[in-house]
Amino acid sequence: MINRRTLAQATPQLVGQTITLMGWVHNKRDHGKLTFIDFRDHTGIIQCIAQGMMSELTNESVVEVTGVVQARPEKLVNPNLPTGSVELSVTEYKVLNLAKDLPIQVKDDGLNEDEQVRLRYRYLDLRRERMRKILRLRSEFYEAWRSALAEYDFVEVETPMLTKSTKEGARDFIVPSRFQPGKFYALPQSPQQYKQLLMTAGVERYFQFARCIRDEDLRADRGFEFTQLDLEMSFVDREDVMKVLEDMTIKAVEQAGGKIKTKPFPVYDYQEAIKQFGADKFDLRTEEDKQNGVLAFAWVINFPFFKKVDKKDAAEVRDSQSGWTFTHNPFSAPLPDHIDDHLAKRNIDRILTSQYDLVCNGFEVGGGSIRAHQPEVLRTTFEIMGYSNEQIEASVGHMLEAFELGTPPHGGIAYGLDRLVMLLAGEDSIKETIAFPMTSTGRTAVMDAPAEVSEEQLKELGLKVEQIKK
Ligand code: ASP
Repeated sequence: MINRRTLAQATPQLVGQTITLMGWVHNKRDHGKLTFIDFRDHTGIIQCIAQGMMSELTNESVVEVTGVVQARPEKLVNPNLPTGSVELSVTEYKVLNLAKDLPIQVKDDGLNEDEQVRLRYRYLDLRRERMRKILRLRSEFYEAWRSALAEYDFVEVETPMLTKSTKEGARDFIVPSRFQPGKFYALPQSPQQYKQLLMTAGVERYFQFARCIRDEDLRADRGFEFTQLDLEMSFVDREDVMKVLEDMTIKAVEQAGGKIKTKPFPVYDYQEAIKQFGADKFDLRTEEDKQNGVLAFAWVINFPFFKKVDKKDAAEVRDSQSGWTFTHNPFSAPLPDHIDDHLAKRNIDRILTSQYDLVCNGFEVGGGSIRAHQPEVLRTTFEIMGYSNEQIEASVGHMLEAFELGTPPHGGIAYGLDRLVMLLAGEDSIKETIAFPMTSTGRTAVMDAPAEVSEEQLKELGLKVEQIKK
């Protein structure tokens, strides 16, 4: 089947040959006996002319069309189309799937369409040229990262989706266990602990395109799941990780067609950034840079390790017992000069973490740190957050154990890939970069979850649904 199929983009080189195309009716115009079809496949559009046939076809129907490729007369060459010098004179065709009237049209960019409708019919929405380009860019960007990562000898490893609370500062999604009624898994907010355990395992350089699931309050531009490029390295300090990451970022971004404003990336002290920009994410582009689609990366370092709990933040309230909580990541190590204060639980508000954030065009696109690989340092972090010995054992006992069984010093980072692709594509919303994102009310595209489950399913899980007034 595939062998006898020719792709639209190949047609200008095939004048005089009989070929078979397979794809969609992008547009149809009837002119008396002649029917003109703009035929589309994933490589482009080509005009087909049919005499006394094909007029029953509807837009977006799937067809197999056989015909002879002809050069267009000089006057009729369409300079706006890569295949504009040729057309297909149809001899035969087969309808593979006839399309009814479409709920949305796919010829425009879709930006004015209602979000609910776009996501309800996402498979149509993704047929738009703009969306197809973004999907392809995303795939090429992944490809570019893989080759940059391979150059640095990183190993791709997958980590579990059904796991335990991972403490990334959000609420967990929980999954009931059928075998152990009354017990629950948590979906990972990130692979943080597993990637550190891979360092204990001697992997030394790990990466993963990881799905992360966080039950956070929804905003227009945020769903419950997102994709991180997650990685971790052994035997490194802060500057080593930043250097390797910066080099790989430049390679991957430039290979995917991105333009970078300043190399090497400027580095800002957290306090300095706050003073200069009023925030720890900022936009270094000029108006001209903005017009040219330039990406302005910068690092931010020297963040405080702890902050007072924000009482309005449910996850912060839950994660802390003392009123202190971590600003970024409880698994981080303090900066070397601050370890003594940390271990002595002294000057808590002045302890700095080894965290580094990468910002780009006003967004945080990545963040990571050198980790606490000595058990007493991690234990102290949880003590500062007010955890008792039993609570520490229950939440990170497995990490403390691994840290007593030969764990190298290590550090890593995670990049928000949806956001990076958004910036590369010059889009304003990460939803444009995700094939099937959620609606802003948290419903899944096309499949419309969350949904009720049957009584039998609940019974198997030993669960009963009772509405509790909040
Ligand atoms: N796990 C962290 C996060 O998801 C990133 C890291 O420190 O590597 O934000």
